[in-house]
Amino acid sequence: MIRYNKLIFELSTEDRVGYSLPNSKFSDYNINDLKTDYLRTEEPDLPEVSELEVLRHFTNISNKNFGVENGFYPLGSCTMKYNPKINEEIVNFNNFKRLHPLQPVSTTQGAFKVYYDLQKILAEISGFHEFSLNPYAGAHGELIGLMIIKKYHESRGDFHKNKIIIPDSAHGTNPASVVVCGMEVIEIESNKRGRVDIDSLKEAISGRDDIAGMMLTNPNTLGIFEENICEIAKLIHKAGGKMYNDGANLNALLGKVRPGDMGFDVMHINLHKTFSTPHGGGGPGSGPVGVTEELAKFLPNPQVKKMDDYYYVENNGDAIGQISAFYGNYLVSLRALVYLLTLGKENIKLIGRYATLNANYVRNALKSTYELPIQGNCMHETVFNGLINKENDIKTLDIAKRLLDYGMHAPTIYFPLLFPQAIMIEPTETESLQTLDEFIEIMHKIAIEAKENPDKLKDAPTKTPIRRTDEVFAAKQMIFSYKDYLEYIEKRDE
Ligand SMILES: *Cc1c(COP(=O)(O)O)cnc(C)c1O
Repeated sequence: MIRYNKLIFELSTEDRVGYSLPNSKFSDYNINDLKTDYLRTEEPDLPEVSELEVLRHFTNISNKNFGVENGFYPLGSCTMKYNPKINEEIVNFNNFKRLHPLQPVSTTQGAFKVYYDLQKILAEISGFHEFSLNPYAGAHGELIGLMIIKKYHESRGDFHKNKIIIPDSAHGTNPASVVVCGMEVIEIESNKRGRVDIDSLKEAISGRDDIAGMMLTNPNTLGIFEENICEIAKLIHKAGGKMYNDGANLNALLGKVRPGDMGFDVMHINLHKTFSTPHGGGGPGSGPVGVTEELAKFLPNPQVKKMDDYYYVENNGDAIGQISAFYGNYLVSLRALVYLLTLGKENIKLIGRYATLNANYVRNALKSTYELPIQGNCMHETVFNGLINKENDIKTLDIAKRLLDYGMHAPTIYFPLLFPQAIMIEPTETESLQTLDEFIEIMHKIAIEAKENPDKLKDAPTKTPIRRTDEVFAAKQMIFSYKDYLEYIEKRDE
């Protein structure tokens, strides 16, 4: 077993090769004909291993991974749900996969139909006028949405409007996007019920004429619906601002309400969270941005349009510019369209209901042992503040690590920042009652262990390939290459 913990460089044996190539037809080709500028002076430092060793190495690494296909993965705010395998097969059809973005538009009409139809469906689902599929991720969508708001104000000569209001429960990308966009954040506090505090909001905007807008997540990052959304939108609009909806996680609302009808002017949707792209480890993603009719001309270029039965691409002079290579992540868009069409108009409505039902089921089953800081029903996710019984100094981190020993992924922990021992659980709409019951039973078991056998939690995890990592060290001293690793080992052993 130890052998499989080695790096592939450590498995290297001098002169071993993992390939055999046929003799070159161009054997009389002289390497000196190549410009010397392009020739390397030293051999590359590559591991020398056989094909079988390579195969075993990477298969064993992949077995250490944990994903939704291994077990329950209730990571709140990230929607790690099951995505149908047939969608993967479809995006692997050569007719989709082998297209080139520079092909003449007349030869790629089918691909543009995919774009166009998805833009239209997203607009209908969310209540907006038009969508752009160009942004590559949620955070990218936020930036694009904010750039549109900024450009709108500038187009009216309102260059001083540069303040964006954000509640303290927001996802960290929200304030970051505001700063990247060259605007400033005004943070407002949540009330005791986890919602926007209307009085704080009124205070924050009163007497100001520099409010560019507000970014709001609804349901918010506590999994709670902002009941006062219409009043909030009215206040912001009255102050001359635009409402931005962080719609990264749209599953809770699907088929029930539309952000466009709540008074939002701009939103992004994370296709990779809500509409069937397996994600994690940084990609792939897509964060389409939707806007009202008033803002549509500012959407990024190129814009995919249709006239009669012909699809075409247009660059609009009012647009904020081009923000991606070509049209964003095409295959992520394709997965989303296939997913939506497979479900159909009727079944899409079930997503929100099941996501909400599952989260409330877990919430109610766990509230006898885990501290529920905010009462009432939740939507697609639920937040606890550690165990009710805080004896033996058991932290949320210990609970999360113990869950790994039971073969389940930990929920999101220490986010949102409103509660010191936050545990944020999103079961998602794709889990069965049996899986939820199993998770609930394990969470109760962990609560008992916390009381009677706390070392089991303090020592956890014991069954994973790596135990607890030193996160501070990992963040401060990043080791990205084998060379860095060797240097680190040498220094450590000195
Ligand atoms: C995931 C998430 C984002 C960021 O999306 P990325 O695709 O990771 O950039 C933003 N807001 C919320 C609420 C999220 O859950």
